[in-house]
Amino acid sequence: MRLLNPGPVTLSERVRRSMLAPDLCHRESEFFDLQDEARRRLLATYAIDPAEWCAVLITSSGTGAVESMVSTLVPTDGRVLVAENGVYGERIAQICARYRISCERMAGDWLAALDLAAISRRLEHAPADGGARFTHLAVVHHETTTGRLNDLRALGDLCRQHGAKLLVDAVSSFGAEPLEFGDDSLAAVAATANKCLHGVPGVAFAIVRRRALERAASRAYYLDLARCAAAQDRRDTPFTPAVQAHYALVEALREHAEQGGWMARHRRYAALAEQVRAGLDRLGIAALLPPEESSVVLRSYCIPANTAYATLHDGLKARGFVIYAGQGNLAQRLFRISTMGDVSAADIDRLLESCGELLR
Ligand SMILES: *Cc1c(COP(=O)(O)O)cnc(C)c1O
Repeated sequence: MRLLNPGPVTLSERVRRSMLAPDLCHRESEFFDLQDEARRRLLATYAIDPAEWCAVLITSSGTGAVESMVSTLVPTDGRVLVAENGVYGERIAQICARYRISCERMAGDWLAALDLAAISRRLEHAPADGGARFTHLAVVHHETTTGRLNDLRALGDLCRQHGAKLLVDAVSSFGAEPLEFGDDSLAAVAATANKCLHGVPGVAFAIVRRRALERAASRAYYLDLARCAAAQDRRDTPFTPAVQAHYALVEALREHAEQGGWMARHRRYAALAEQVRAGLDRLGIAALLPPEESSVVLRSYCIPANTAYATLHDGLKARGFVIYAGQGNLAQRLFRISTMGDVSAADIDRLLESCGELLR
């Protein structure tokens, strides 16, 4: 079966086998060697300066890392502007609400780019409205709802201009899309093992500026990023980690580096995504967004008239492919295809052939 959903991904044999390594007690040096290697390799993925940043591992899915980042790093007197254009942006606002973090939502059209001018005005004028200044702007890098890649560089510029810090959900982009850790406004990025890095579900992480941890509010108990960072820095762990998922993450990071790092993965995904787009276009299935607004990780396509999503999904599943439905109010209109994981050009050829058979 080839998984074309946005994680968990189809594993390489190498990563699958890595989980058969010896059983480990998480309080023995062997586990801490594994933890150290994962943290070191996560920083190396984007040549991130270990003097300024640290990678903090959390046993959870990607949402746990996002929740951990937001609930820990926004100071007690902080205020967050959440710029949303999809389900995952909405989720950040829901996390803020749950922790009673002062937050304002800028809910944009799910089919449109973020309105940079409006975000800039909001960051600039908040004090004049009598409200507190926004300390943070929270955004999703790759909004998996539609496949849109939000413009982090422009959002970072706005933050620097208005003295806010950027919190990024890069769960579905880390390892395959550009991230600039040299941007002074960037406070933290949350991501997971089982998307573009090709590990398994169970371990997620945040890349955090050490300075941002100094003002941590640490609202959560299990998800306290500051406590996890301190423990991991002294080769310790507060709780029982998903040991086998750590084995898989380390093996996946070795494979990622050997295959040429994030840029090579970006090129590989881009070629596969273009192959899907061009092939579906020939079958009369249009892409939702133009390639220049899309990630290379996942793209959305319009369900052809007189075809039900279930027909397409079930027919492809019988032929060995799992595709992904649209979310929320887009479920009737769209389906999604991700090219993450151990997927080849030959797999995509077979997928397109299968689509052709089903539409005939
Ligand atoms: C997958 C994803 C998440 C996290 O989802 P989990 O099911 O918790 O792993 C968060 N944000 C984005 C943008 C995602 O694509």
